Amino acid sequence: MALTGVEIFKLLPKTNCKKCGFPTCLAFAMKLAQRQASLEACPDVSEDAKQKLGAASAPPVRPITIGTGEKAVKMGEETVLFRHDKRFVNPCVFAMEIKDTLSEPDIKARVEEILNSEIDRVGQKLRIDSIALVNASGDTGKFESAAGIISSNAPGVPVIICTDNPQAAEAAVKLFSEKKPVIYGANPANIDLMVNLAKAYKATLGVTANGLDELGNLTEKVKSLGVEDMVIDSGARKAKEILEHNTLIRRSAVKKNFKPLGYPVITFAQREDSLVETLVASVAVAKYSSIVVLSSIEKWKNLALFTLRQNIYTDPQVPMQVEQKVYKVGEPTSDSPLFITTNFSLTYFIVSGELENSRVPGYLAVMDCEGLSVLTAWAAGKFTASKIAQFIKESGIEGSIKHRELIIPGYVAILSGAIEDKLEGWKITVGPREANGLPAFLKSRAA
Ligand code: SF4
Repeated sequence: MALTGVEIFKLLPKTNCKKCGFPTCLAFAMKLAQRQASLEACPDVSEDAKQKLGAASAPPVRPITIGTGEKAVKMGEETVLFRHDKRFVNPCVFAMEIKDTLSEPDIKARVEEILNSEIDRVGQKLRIDSIALVNASGDTGKFESAAGIISSNAPGVPVIICTDNPQAAEAAVKLFSEKKPVIYGANPANIDLMVNLAKAYKATLGVTANGLDELGNLTEKVKSLGVEDMVIDSGARKAKEILEHNTLIRRSAVKKNFKPLGYPVITFAQREDSLVETLVASVAVAKYSSIVVLSSIEKWKNLALFTLRQNIYTDPQVPMQVEQKVYKVGEPTSDSPLFITTNFSLTYFIVSGELENSRVPGYLAVMDCEGLSVLTAWAAGKFTASKIAQFIKESGIEGSIKHRELIIPGYVAILSGAIEDKLEGWKITVGPREANGLPAFLKSRAA
């Protein structure tokens, strides 16, 4: 069971030295109990306390990283059942299935699709993160050859090697040695050999079972054999089972601290009908899967799933923000118009999107208002005439444009006079209230 703040406090040095960044040991203990601090922040904690606290402060779902380099993905580390309790930590991984029965050109085409799947949404890069290579042929040579094509054409993309045949698994995994792959397919019949492979190739082991009881027993066995990095599959394939099993797994881990099920869940959502597959994958994203394997990655499907994942894994306590700076839209010149708005991500992307639609190049000054939208920032005193004037002066935009005209959002028309007073020599123009009025607004200026 997790320790309370007071129980943790008793194990700390109690010197209140502040080296951990908290004013007292008690404050640090409280943060540890809420899993909002790491024990490593206290340099003076004893080895004995470290052992006791390390286990107690570990997240109920084990953190696992697959892949290496910039495309590595971290999963697990979750601490709550519901997003609004705190937040979900590591977004689930989308993996596209590639069967070894495909021809070389088809495998390359699928790899290409994965490499080109990245989109930019609200300032975040979203993509298909991983490849699930499936030994559909049952042939070790074909599996090895497909693994070779993937390893040379998709360097850096984390790979999940799916087979319950230890020989085939070894033939493929050796090509991803040191790349932190997943070997998926450990079951009661092959467990010892698969554990040896996971150890030899420093891979995460994907453990699959027929139901939750068998799964818990298997993970215990794998752990006793010396492998702790696991992803787990209860065998659930229907949406209803996925929902039930995943909920039981997360509830056991978070509420009961039941270690045998405290691992990221891998879900196979593949269906013949792509729409049904998207719906099944959505259930998995919403309810606790850490890896969701898909059979195809059409753009519409990616957009739906990426958006769902992004919404679920966004910290509800932190507004999404973009960096404060002057952004170029198109290729503006020194005569191009200058707009201003706040740094709430959605505001920025809607405004910049409408400016792009207008096909009039311009500058968009985005001011840090702690991620608030225009009206909210104005009401909160963060988007005021003096702050806007100061930001424009300090932004350096005066060196890039010949004119001195600033277009402000119509919702804060009331600020125009005050900004003109603060920004000497500038003309303030009131733009449309809504961003979708920008193309017509710019057209009317050009007429
Ligand atoms: Fe206490 Fe350790 Fe923090 Fe110092 S660094 S205040 S000893 S918890």
